Amino acid sequence: MLSPFSEDHELFRQQCRKFVEKELAPHAAEWEEKKDFPNKVFRRVGEMGYHGILIPEEYGGSGGGYLMASVWSEEMTRIGSGGVSAGLGMHGLIVLPAIAKFGTEEQKERFLIPGVQGEKIGALGLTESVAGTDLANIRSAARREGDHYILNGSKIFITNGTRADFVLVLCKTDPDAGYKGFSTLIVEKGMPGFSQGKPLEKLGWHAGDTAELTFENVVVPMVNRLGEEGMGFYNALANLEWERLMMALGTVYGAQLAFEKTKSYILQREAFGRPIAKFQVNRHKMVDMAVRIEASRQLNYYALRKLVNGEECAREVSMAKIFSAEIGEFVATNCLQLHGGYGYMREYEVERFFRDVRINSIGGGTSEILKEIVGRIMGL
Ligand SMILES: Cc1cc2nc3c(=O)[nH]c(=O)nc-3n(C[C@H](O)[C@H](O)[C@H](O)COP(=O)(O)OP(=O)(O)OC[C@H]3O[C@@H](n4cnc5c(N)ncnc54)[C@H](O)[C@@H]3O)c2cc1C
Repeated sequence: MLSPFSEDHELFRQQCRKFVEKELAPHAAEWEEKKDFPNKVFRRVGEMGYHGILIPEEYGGSGGGYLMASVWSEEMTRIGSGGVSAGLGMHGLIVLPAIAKFGTEEQKERFLIPGVQGEKIGALGLTESVAGTDLANIRSAARREGDHYILNGSKIFITNGTRADFVLVLCKTDPDAGYKGFSTLIVEKGMPGFSQGKPLEKLGWHAGDTAELTFENVVVPMVNRLGEEGMGFYNALANLEWERLMMALGTVYGAQLAFEKTKSYILQREAFGRPIAKFQVNRHKMVDMAVRIEASRQLNYYALRKLVNGEECAREVSMAKIFSAEIGEFVATNCLQLHGGYGYMREYEVERFFRDVRINSIGGGTSEILKEIVGRIMGL
């Protein structure tokens, strides 16, 4: 199958790769250890133009589209820190496009333009302690009072949650209106009653700030409502296919990188007088991984082509995300095993990949719920 990427995309890939390898990857171990990375990373990525790939030129973006964004998503994997790529991806490839799509001109001035520059950092607040998969069951609610809303509730597991300058918060504005009773409010850092928790301790994504947010009688001006009142639930789902595919692309690319590092390792590590790559069992392990990585990549690119062509692709994207998450874990386990005891050590990147990859069957829609989607489409 031909690659979905043209020569221009490949040139762009070289540029992204150079930037990531020179300016971000060398700091990954330190940021992971510190469980934090500096906000200046967002500004630097903004200077490079990568937050603006999906944003029209009039707001400082490049309007590059999903293929360029896919290249950036894949190359971000080279940072070697899922926490950093998740923070950057959430801001530039999920939050900002939502503002570009649904925002007013005033909101674009206030959040999109500085967002593209990396001067303001965004987050997306959907999940709550009582509702993740069952999103319609969220409890955060806002009532209208004159020219503002009063927001109460909380969110959990929010990427960029601690550092975010603004958060797109899904809440109920009409508890009796079913799916038409949700709205999205842009809540800003420092608004009285809005608290951003400390980063939560987690298995992987150590450098990232995944946090809890609370809203106690937060006064949110009407001008901060993103999109129409009552359309919040639909708007939250509007970009879901891209968001899921973006995760799948990163997972498989990360698996490929882990595979390549492992290949180099087993070619030089010796046991019983020969490189461990020369044992048939290990060679077969490598081929088993290569087969699955290739199959998963082609499924991702098939789904990507459909998405780019504007075709219905919920089935393909769901399949791609389910499969890539499985393959990611398969590759991580096997690569770690091939590293022996060293694979278990922090010093070796395969240990981080093993921890980071686990999120992919949970975040952005669990594999179980994606199987429900595919099953429904199949008429089951
Ligand atoms: C590191 C990290 C970062 C995140 N970042 C964000 C973010 O930025 N913004 C945000 O809003 N959220 C974020 N999330 C939340 C994430 O989207 C949710 O964790 C995810 O959607 C699952 O929801 P839950 O944790 O409530 O699990 P639950 O919904 O409680 O699910 C628990 C288990 O039950 C299964 N299950 C649920 N319903 C069904 C069903 N109908 N059929 C079969 N099985 C079912 C699930 O598949 C899962 O295995 C993040 C989570 C993590 C861990």
